[in-house]
Amino acid sequence: MEMVKVLVAAPLHEKAIEVLKNAGFEVLYEEYPDEGRLIELAEDVDAIVVRSKPKVTRKVIEAAPNLKVIGRAGVGLDNIDLEAAKEREIRVVNSPAASSRSVAELVLAMMFNVARKVSFADRKMREGVWAKKQCMGIELDGKTLGIVGFGRIGYQIAKIAKALGMKVLLYDPYPNEERAKEVEGNFVDLETLLEESDVVTLHVPLVEQTYHLINEERLKLMKNTAILINAARGAVVDTNALVKALREGWIAGAGLDVYEEEPLPKDHPLTKLDNVVLTPHIGASTVEAQMRAGVQVAEQIVEVLKG
Ligand code: NAD
Repeated sequence: MEMVKVLVAAPLHEKAIEVLKNAGFEVLYEEYPDEGRLIELAEDVDAIVVRSKPKVTRKVIEAAPNLKVIGRAGVGLDNIDLEAAKEREIRVVNSPAASSRSVAELVLAMMFNVARKVSFADRKMREGVWAKKQCMGIELDGKTLGIVGFGRIGYQIAKIAKALGMKVLLYDPYPNEERAKEVEGNFVDLETLLEESDVVTLHVPLVEQTYHLINEERLKLMKNTAILINAARGAVVDTNALVKALREGWIAGAGLDVYEEEPLPKDHPLTKLDNVVLTPHIGASTVEAQMRAGVQVAEQIVEVLKG
């Protein structure tokens, strides 16, 4: 019998490779081959594993007669031609839950950072400025956290918030009451959440209904002492309105991991503001999330290929 072949076309955690090898599969590894090379490599493989790169195009799929499953270690599937895969009944598997805790912990880091002006203070220290007077902060204990989008990540944050002694408000058009009870969170409408929260954090997918969900009008509903965190997708927030809000003090500060344009252009107005903490889309960038993403995808590939 011929050996089952898996092409790993992007860096994958060694534990994930182990899962594939333990299943008795032959594992070929080449990092980010271009389309032409991928077509060559795909010729006799049963599975291909990618991350956000390389692209698995229709041409690649058509060049792989044995292909039965495509694994994406991570969330988004934009680099895979799903239509072409569907036509051939090729399964596409991913690992959307692998990074939830990591994103939640980054949000936590941002909440504390903005509340205590850690990045600002650090910048001043390096300039030789002892900015003690400008660094009056707030505690999170007893404050209200508003979570917009109570899915995988929102739930992880709610659990942490509860442990911090925060009151949790939730907004989600598809409320999961059982989970809300578990974290002692209350569902309210979006306007109430924005008006009453000391920290608002966004965890919705980017779809038509959530494009610029946080706009000028909604930013004006927030307390002028409030903090906004966006680690969902950049376009969930109207960036121009946010810059205005931060500049003019409609809200106190923000923490952003995602942007309408990525990478964030050099000298963007956001980079000129002291009351915002910026990170380069690193929500899922932890050792644990990467390992989980790889292992979960490898396990699903084994499942598919072993019937
Ligand atoms: P999820 O699907 O588990 O949860 C999303 C929640 O949003 C669901 O409960 C859904 O009902 C709710 N929702 C849908 N439309 C809504 C609306 N109009 N208003 C309010 N809620 C709405 O998703 P998740 O895994 O929790 O991920 C959430 C977001 O985080 C996604 O945008 C994802 O792309 C992003 N993300 C970012 C990073 C990062 O590196 N920063 C990493 C992973 C995921």
